[in-house]
Amino acid sequence: MDSIKGLHHVTAVARDPQRNVDFYRNVLGQRLIKKTVNFDVPDTYHFYFADETGTPGSVMTFFAWPNTERATRGNGETAAVAYNVPVGSLDFWQGHLTRNGITPEPVEKRFNEDVLPFDDPDGMRVELVASVSAPAIRFWEDGPIPQSYTLSGFHSVTLWLDEVEPTVDLLIDHMGYTAAGQEGDRYRFVGGADALGHIVDIVHRPGQPQADFGAGSIHHIAFSVPNDEKQLEYQAALHQAGVGVTPVRDRSYFHSIYFREPGGVLFEIATNTPGFAIDEPVNALGEALRLPTWLQQNYAAIEQGLQPLILKPIEKAK
Ligand code: ZN
Repeated sequence: MDSIKGLHHVTAVARDPQRNVDFYRNVLGQRLIKKTVNFDVPDTYHFYFADETGTPGSVMTFFAWPNTERATRGNGETAAVAYNVPVGSLDFWQGHLTRNGITPEPVEKRFNEDVLPFDDPDGMRVELVASVSAPAIRFWEDGPIPQSYTLSGFHSVTLWLDEVEPTVDLLIDHMGYTAAGQEGDRYRFVGGADALGHIVDIVHRPGQPQADFGAGSIHHIAFSVPNDEKQLEYQAALHQAGVGVTPVRDRSYFHSIYFREPGGVLFEIATNTPGFAIDEPVNALGEALRLPTWLQQNYAAIEQGLQPLILKPIEKAK
């Protein structure tokens, strides 16, 4: 069976939909490529931010749940998501984030790369990694960030775990990842070197408190497979290995299976097909509310029930 190469998307929880869009679109410069609702909770938004077209491995999604308490980071979750940025751009990002009310942490060195960590407005940990060899994305020309500084898809995710070995066994034996070194309590695993989001880091934190889920939590991480056939192979293989994996769910833009890895983190395997242009043209992605066919008949009521959202004019960053 082909190995998994990297991430498809990362999904997190935000409290305030407007603040979430203002930050990821107008500050980080990710295009809002889909405005839809949580298919299970259709009175709440589900936003997708990505490169211009929604290339798998660049897609950050948020459930906007206004009544959610703020999370506390801890074991058993994805504690950080990292984006690639060009080498030499971290000075820009320090200034740009600070001007937009975010105080980044000092730059740290990790596996020979410079990493700029900060918390987003909900307290979710985001990291910008100056990457020498990030795979290409589709640059969003109309966005606020010059191409020389732009976020360029996912670099990695970091899991905080009580125990490392059971998760490592899953990544290596059943998902095709390979071990790529250790720095202190951080263990690195890689999928396909030429894929976006091909790194999974595990930080070993024995005996530390479990995460308290809420706004600012990463809900799950989704790994990418090219199509339905590969997804079914993974579903069968995981089932065979004793992993409790769900039936295939139709997420309109991709198809999904879910399972909880041994450390408690929710994993998904998502198909790259059919993609985000299935229900609107690329030049209009994210502008109108989009609903799956089974919610279409309630379109007016659902739209009415959502908090109004303004896509503010893009100001080019300098
Ligand atoms: Zn997902």
